Amino acid sequence: MTTISPSPRVQPEPGLPSRVTVYEVGPRDGLQAEADIIPSPIKAELCARLYAAGSRHLELTSFVPPSWIPQLADAADVVAAVEVPQGARAVALVPNLRGLRRAIDAGVREVAVVVSATESFAQANLNTTMAGALDRAVEVIAAAGAEGLPVRGYVSMAFGDPWEGEVDTAAVTTAAAALHAAGAGTIALGDTIGVATPGLTTRLISETLATGIPVQRLALHLHDTYALALANVHTALRLGVAEFDSAIGGLGRCPYAKGATGNLATEDLVWMLHGLGIETGLDLAALVTTTRWLSRARGVPAPSRVARALAAAAADTSRITQEAEPA
Ligand code: MG
Repeated sequence: MTTISPSPRVQPEPGLPSRVTVYEVGPRDGLQAEADIIPSPIKAELCARLYAAGSRHLELTSFVPPSWIPQLADAADVVAAVEVPQGARAVALVPNLRGLRRAIDAGVREVAVVVSATESFAQANLNTTMAGALDRAVEVIAAAGAEGLPVRGYVSMAFGDPWEGEVDTAAVTTAAAALHAAGAGTIALGDTIGVATPGLTTRLISETLATGIPVQRLALHLHDTYALALANVHTALRLGVAEFDSAIGGLGRCPYAKGATGNLATEDLVWMLHGLGIETGLDLAALVTTTRWLSRARGVPAPSRVARALAAAAADTSRITQEAEPA
């Protein structure tokens, strides 16, 4: 059998970060938005495979009320079933103090919170107002901090909103600055529906940094609806951003925005970063194997471009090899 080396040719570009944090959101943000409910043992195996592939920044699940997101009703079971390697992060999203308490009881030692850059998303997704979401996030950050838990803060709908269209960048930077001031360790600007373009990415990052948030504390959470997620990553790299969210296999969509596709696929992101000579600590071949395994387990095609390309290349090579072999 012929094996394809699943790695791009490396050509570094001057001025980019030498190492990037790939923050894996597949088990949480990915699976919460897929229609099927994945059994807990499959979720736990997915996390184990991601850790084995080198992931050290993993968002496992979300302690939202099960009535909100039935896909993640088994949050405590998943946390209990996953063995976290030494030095690796195992983050859980929490919507409020009650969720924080459930997460801590389950053994979680790092959490994430979400605020919204628009009123419509706050109401549809967080069941509150923009100000209400920020108040809840600040409460969680304080309570988590009191227990020594780091908190990651998301600003959702930072680049556009399916109800409101263009989003005021000042609303985004105000929310980001408030999370930072409250003590969130990382602020992730979320392109929840995938409408960011490189020019807007440049503007929003610049305006966010101008509020005093250090670039080391800034992350981007991108969706690939219009195939611009990697262009936006490249733009952000040139501005010094060195943390990006992605989901294995491009899992997830936004249930509130029809047509919005999944998160940026981890293997697509890693292919580009490795091609730029940027270290991620991730094993691309193991990521692709994980995507194929999950696709088989769910009975759906592997969605990421890199997984498809490598599968096609492997199939083609094996056909050629078979033809070349004497009968
Ligand atoms: Mg997402």
